[in-house]
Amino acid sequence: MKMYIDRKWVDSPATTPVISPYSREVVDTVPQASPEQIEAALAAAERGATTMRQLPAHERGAILGRLANLVAEHQEDLARTISLEEGKPLSESRGEVGRMPDLIRLCGFEGTQQRGETLPLDAQAGAKGKLGLTLRVPCGVVLAITPFNYPLLLVVHKVAPALAAGNAVILKPANQTPLTALKLTRLILEAGLPEDGIQCLTGPGAAIGAALCADRRVRKISFTGSTVVGEAITRVAGVKRLSLELGSNSPLVILPDADLHQASQATAVAGYVNAGQVCISAQRILVDRAVYGDFLDALAPEVARIATGDPFAEGTKLSAMISERDASRVGEWIDEAVAGGARVVTGGTRDHALFAPTVVADVAPTMRLSREELFGPAVAVTPVSGIDEAIALANASSYGLGAGIFTRNIDNALRFAQEVESGNVMINWTPLWRADLMPYGGLKQSGIGKEGPRYAVAEMTEGKTVVFHSGT
Ligand code: NAD
Repeated sequence: MKMYIDRKWVDSPATTPVISPYSREVVDTVPQASPEQIEAALAAAERGATTMRQLPAHERGAILGRLANLVAEHQEDLARTISLEEGKPLSESRGEVGRMPDLIRLCGFEGTQQRGETLPLDAQAGAKGKLGLTLRVPCGVVLAITPFNYPLLLVVHKVAPALAAGNAVILKPANQTPLTALKLTRLILEAGLPEDGIQCLTGPGAAIGAALCADRRVRKISFTGSTVVGEAITRVAGVKRLSLELGSNSPLVILPDADLHQASQATAVAGYVNAGQVCISAQRILVDRAVYGDFLDALAPEVARIATGDPFAEGTKLSAMISERDASRVGEWIDEAVAGGARVVTGGTRDHALFAPTVVADVAPTMRLSREELFGPAVAVTPVSGIDEAIALANASSYGLGAGIFTRNIDNALRFAQEVESGNVMINWTPLWRADLMPYGGLKQSGIGKEGPRYAVAEMTEGKTVVFHSGT
C-alpha cells in the first residue's frame, strides 16, 4: 500500500514488509517516509490546519457521520486486515471494528459542543464596562502516533476527536500494523474530509518519529505506546501539548469474600485477550492467602481451555503475539521467575510467536514478571495477607493505568477506589474494561491526559480569552 501525503498516495524507495505474525508471511509492504516526504507532510498539514479551522462544526460532524457509515460498511475487510497484520483472532478484530461507528459519531457530536464562558470582569476594580469571554479553538496540527495492538481502535480514538475539533492530522501508525490505518485514511477521504486535512505516513518510528515530534508546526502530539518511547518524545517535543497513553502492569486483587467463579472466569479473559497485548491486561493477580489455592484451582482449567491457533479459524481465542521475539521474551521472564521459586501452573510453552496461555503462581513482586510490563499471555499470581498488603502491592509499581478488585465488602471496595493509584479502577471486575466514551488514561508512568470523545476533543482544542473594551 502507499502512504498519503499532500493530497497524493505515494511510494518511497525504501519499504517495510508487513508480516502476518501467525503465518509469518509477508502480506504487503508500505513505504518508509523519507526526510523530504516528512517535510512535505508537515507543510501540507500546516495548510490543512487552515482549511480545517474554517470548516464549520456541523460540516465536520457530517463528515464523521459519513465515516461512521463507511466503517460499518467495510467492517469485514477492516477486521480481516487487523487479524492479518496484528495476529489477533478474527472474532476480536470484528469486536474492535464493531465499536468504531458509535465512537466516531460520538466524536463528531462532541466536536459540535465546544463551549466557552463569559467572565465576570467587573469583580475586579477597573474592569467596569468591559466584556470578557473565552473561546475554544483547534490546536492546529495534531500528530497522532499509535501502537500495534489495536490498529483501528487506538487510531480512531485520536483521529476522530482531532478532526471533530477542527484540526489537521498527521497519522503515524505502528510500523507492524500500518495497513488498517491506511485503509481508514481512504475512508476518511471518501467521507469528504478536505484532502489536506489528513496525512498518513508510514515507517519505523525510531527513524521518522523524532523529526515529526520535534517540528514546531505540530502543536499537539497524541501518543499511545510504550513508556520508553513516550519519554523519548517528551525530550524532543519542545513547546507543545502532549497526551501520552503509556504502558502498565495492571493489578487485580481477589479478596476472600469474592465470587471466585466469576473472578476466575473474568481473569481467564483479562490476562489473555489479544494474547495479553492490551495496556490494561490483568497482569499482577494479588490473591488473599485465605482463597489462594481455591482461586488457582478455579483459574487453571479456565486458562487451559483457551483455544489457540490460526486467527482466522473458527473458535480460536488466542493466537500469535506480534513477533517471535516478543514471545521469546515472555518465555525468558517466566523462566527467570521459575528459577527464583515461582511455578508454572498451566501453559509456559511456545510455538514461534504463539505463546500458550500461562498462569505462574508464587511470583514475588520483585520478579520482572510482576515488576515490568509483560504485554503477553500470562498472569503472575502472588499471595497477599489482607486489604492493606493488597493495596500496598497494587501501588508498588511505576505504572498506574488500570486496577481491579473482586470483593463483596463495600468498605474494602471503597478503600481500593480511593487509595489505588490508577487512572481506571474497576470494582468487581478486572482492569480490562473500557467504554469508549469514558475518560481513559493513566496516572504515574502510565501517561498524561485522557482519551474518550469528550475528553480528547477538549485536549485537542485550546482556550483563548477575548476582552471587549469600550471606545470611551
Ligand atoms: P512503541 O512505543 O514501540 O511504539 C508506539 C508507536 O511509536 C509506533 O507507531 C512506533 O513506530 C512509534 N515510535 C517508536 N519510536 C519512536 C520515536 N522515537 N519517536 C516517535 N515515535 C516513535 O509501542 P508498541 O510496541 O507499538 O505498543 C505497545 C505499548 O503500547 C505497550 O507499552 C502498551 O502498554 C502501550 N499501550 C498503551 C495504551 C494506553 O491506552 N495507555 C494502549 C495501547 C498500548
